[in-house]
Amino acid sequence: LSGDPSSLSQQDKDIDKALRPLSFDDFTGQGKIIDNLQIFVDAAKAREEALDHVLLHGPPGLGKTTLSHIIANELGSSLKISSGPVLDKPSDLAGLLTNLQPYDVLFIDEIHRLNPIVEEYLYSAMEDYKIDIMLDSGPNARSIQIGLNPFTLIGATTRAGLLTSPLRARFGINARLEYYDSKLLTTIVTRSAAILKMPIEESGAYEIARRSRGTPRIANNLLRRTRDFAQIKGEGIINSHIAEYALSALDVDQNGLDEMDNRILMTIIEKFKGGPVGLSTIATACGEEAETIEEVYEPFLIQEGFLKRTSRGREATEKAYRHLGFEPNAKTGQ
Ligand code: ADP
Repeated sequence: LSGDPSSLSQQDKDIDKALRPLSFDDFTGQGKIIDNLQIFVDAAKAREEALDHVLLHGPPGLGKTTLSHIIANELGSSLKISSGPVLDKPSDLAGLLTNLQPYDVLFIDEIHRLNPIVEEYLYSAMEDYKIDIMLDSGPNARSIQIGLNPFTLIGATTRAGLLTSPLRARFGINARLEYYDSKLLTTIVTRSAAILKMPIEESGAYEIARRSRGTPRIANNLLRRTRDFAQIKGEGIINSHIAEYALSALDVDQNGLDEMDNRILMTIIEKFKGGPVGLSTIATACGEEAETIEEVYEPFLIQEGFLKRTSRGREATEKAYRHLGFEPNAKTGQ
């Protein structure tokens, strides 16, 4: 149920694809970003130029990949997909770039994890549509410059703060995706249920939506699992009763926090007296990667007021104490 797409089965991946919105009109939420992108895309098309490079950042599952597909569709171009860790050598990048057709879109996921040497090659490609390639090595080494077709790079990252400033400066369009509120997620769940031909009551859609950590990918995952419960334990329709039954069976609590969210809060409270405590200490105690806690769990816990980030570390809030059934004044120990 996490935001990690690599944990999906093939069947789930096919469903995931079927649920992806294909146009700006079909995309729910992120209104301001969509309005702006629509204008930039129309303007680039009218001028017959490549769209400026786009940086999309925000937690996993909020629609960065989906938006990249949409941008390419709306430009009438094709989308090539790669990711930071996969582009290991400059030749990997050169191969991708030299194969781009005019105005194609190249999507690089996890762009903050690019090898610094590969990243440097990207600078001239982004700026001048040119790339220098080294031929041979040692005394015979020489570099030749290859011209590229005009293209748009879309970089996606969960951690904009980790981008180097020369790379960040080369993106003309910079958009930060926000968590979705329950109303928007209800629309997304209802739309997805219609595509899956699954009858759903509004109250059932809302129950799934409000417990999806503000994240469309999680909402769709919970919908799929709730559908199983509705078919086996219910009457083939998702209402609030079956949604509640399914969500509690899936360990998603009343506030939409999952097992790891709760483990993080419980660890801070029980083992570290509520904090402040450092991220890596929490990670070790919870058996989870520090990076995952920082990128996936923490942003939502902070937004919802369960966790505070201070200069001395992470602190559980009063709300976290109450949520986990402690006395409200347990925090101060009075
Ligand atoms: P990211 O790249 O940010 O991790 P994705 O673009 O892969 O997220 O989105 C995850 C899933 O959530 C997609 O399969 C898509 O179906 C769904 N999704 C994301 N954003 C929206 C949205 N605004 N409207 C409808 N579905 C969405």
